[in-house]
Amino acid sequence: MAGFDVAVVGGGLAGRIAALAFAKNGFSTVLIAPDDGRTDQRTTALMDHSLGFLAGLGIWDRVKPEAAALSTMQIIDATERLLRAPPVTFRASEIGLEAFGYNIPNAPFLAILSAALGELPNVTVLGTSVGRADLSSEPAALHLADGTEFTAGLVIAADGRKSLIRDAAGIDTRSHAYPQTAVVLNFTHDRPHNNVSTEFHTRTGPFTQVPLPGQRSSLVWVVKPQEAVEILQLPEEVLNRRIEDRMQSVLGKVRVEGKVQAWPLSASTATRFGKGQVALIGEAAHVFPPIGAQGLNLSLRDIESALELALAARRTGARLAIGDAYDGRRRADIWSRTGAIDLLNRSLLSGFLPVQMLRAAGMHMLSAIPPLRYLVMHEGVAPGRGFKSFPDFLRKEISRKHA
Ligand SMILES: Cc1cc2nc3c(=O)[nH]c(=O)nc-3n(C[C@H](O)[C@H](O)[C@H](O)COP(=O)(O)OP(=O)(O)OC[C@H]3O[C@@H](n4cnc5c(N)ncnc54)[C@H](O)[C@@H]3O)c2cc1C
Repeated sequence: MAGFDVAVVGGGLAGRIAALAFAKNGFSTVLIAPDDGRTDQRTTALMDHSLGFLAGLGIWDRVKPEAAALSTMQIIDATERLLRAPPVTFRASEIGLEAFGYNIPNAPFLAILSAALGELPNVTVLGTSVGRADLSSEPAALHLADGTEFTAGLVIAADGRKSLIRDAAGIDTRSHAYPQTAVVLNFTHDRPHNNVSTEFHTRTGPFTQVPLPGQRSSLVWVVKPQEAVEILQLPEEVLNRRIEDRMQSVLGKVRVEGKVQAWPLSASTATRFGKGQVALIGEAAHVFPPIGAQGLNLSLRDIESALELALAARRTGARLAIGDAYDGRRRADIWSRTGAIDLLNRSLLSGFLPVQMLRAAGMHMLSAIPPLRYLVMHEGVAPGRGFKSFPDFLRKEISRKHA
C-alpha cells in the first residue's frame, strides 16, 4: 500500500486548490478527483485576500486573463415590499483598492488548476472516488472504488456537501434546506458593465449580475424551485427579455450564452471542522446560499489554516494529524460567515414587517455611516483587515473634519 503525506478527497475548486497548496509546499500529495461529467457553468467571485493566496501559489497570472475585476458593488432592494431599503454602493477606490476582487468562470479555473497540478512531480491525481475510509488506523487508509488502496498522514475532506470522509470521521452536520434554487447563466449585453456588480434583493432571494471580461456578465438568480423549472424551459427570446426587465435595462439588450443550470440551495454546517487526521474544507465543512460571494473565499481560508498547521507540525517533527487544532482555529470565521449569510437570506424571504424594518435600517446605516461602510468593505475583502486598520481610518476622518 503506497503512502502519502496528504490525501485530498474531492476535485472541486476547493480540493484542487488544496492539493496545489500542499504539493507546492513539498508534501507528497494525492488528489482523488472523480469526473462527474458535468461542466460547471458557475462563476466565482474571489476577493482580494483570496487572490493574494492564489498569487502565492503561482496560479493567479494564469487565471487573471479569464476573469473580470469587481470595482463597484451595489445592492438594490427590489423586494417591492412596503418597507424598502435604500440602494447601497461600495467602491473599491474608497478603501484604496483597484478592485474588491475578480469574477472567474469555474470551468477554465478548474482546467488551469488541473494543468498546474500536472506539472508538479509530487502530486498523484486519481480519477476515481473513495469508497471507504479507515480513519481510526494511523496513518489513515483510503480504499478507492477501483480497488486502489493507500495511506495518508492527513486527509483533507473536499468531497462536498455529502462528504463521505466527514461521515467516516463520525462528524455530524446541522442542515437546513431553503425553498430556493439558483438559476445560473452567462450573458452578453449591449452596454458596458464598467466592472460594476449589482445584487438585486428580491422576495425570493438575490438576483446578482457579476461582470465577466468584455461586454459579458454572469447571473445568479435565486428563485422558488418551481420557478427555476419554468425558467429552464423558457424560449431564448423570452428569457433574454425577462432578464433585461429584471435588470431594469441598465445593461441594455441581453442575450443568454450557452447552457442555463439550476443549483438547489441549502445550508449545512459541520458540527466540527476537523478531528484527528481529518480536516474538512469547502462545502464538506460549510454550505450556504450564494449571497455576497463567500463560499470559496471561506474555503481558501480553510486551506490556508490547514496548510499553516501542517507546516508547523512538519517543522517540529510532529504528526500531521492536525484535525483537532484545525477545528479550534476555523470555528469563529466559519460560524460568523454562515450566521451572517443565513440571517440576510432569511430577512429577504421573510414578509414579517419588523424583520423588513431591521433590514432596511441596516442598509440605510451602510449607505450613510462612513465608518460602518469602511469596516464592511475591508472585512469583505479580508477578515480582520477592517478592525486592524480602523484606528488609522478614524484618525484620518477626525483630522479631515477638523481641517
Ligand atoms: C450558484 C452558486 C454560486 C456561487 N458563487 C460563489 C462566488 O461567487 N464566490 C464564492 O466564493 N463562492 C461561491 N459559491 C460557492 C462555491 O462554488 C463553493 O463553495 C466552491 O465551489 C467549493 O466547493 P467544493 O470544492 O467544496 O465542493 P464541490 O464543488 O461540490 O466539489 C466536491 C467534489 O468532491 C467529489 N466527491 C464527492 N464524493 C466523493 C468521494 N467519495 N470520493 C472522491 N471525490 C468525491 C465530487 O465529485 C466533487 O467534484 C457559489 C455556490 C453556488 C451554488
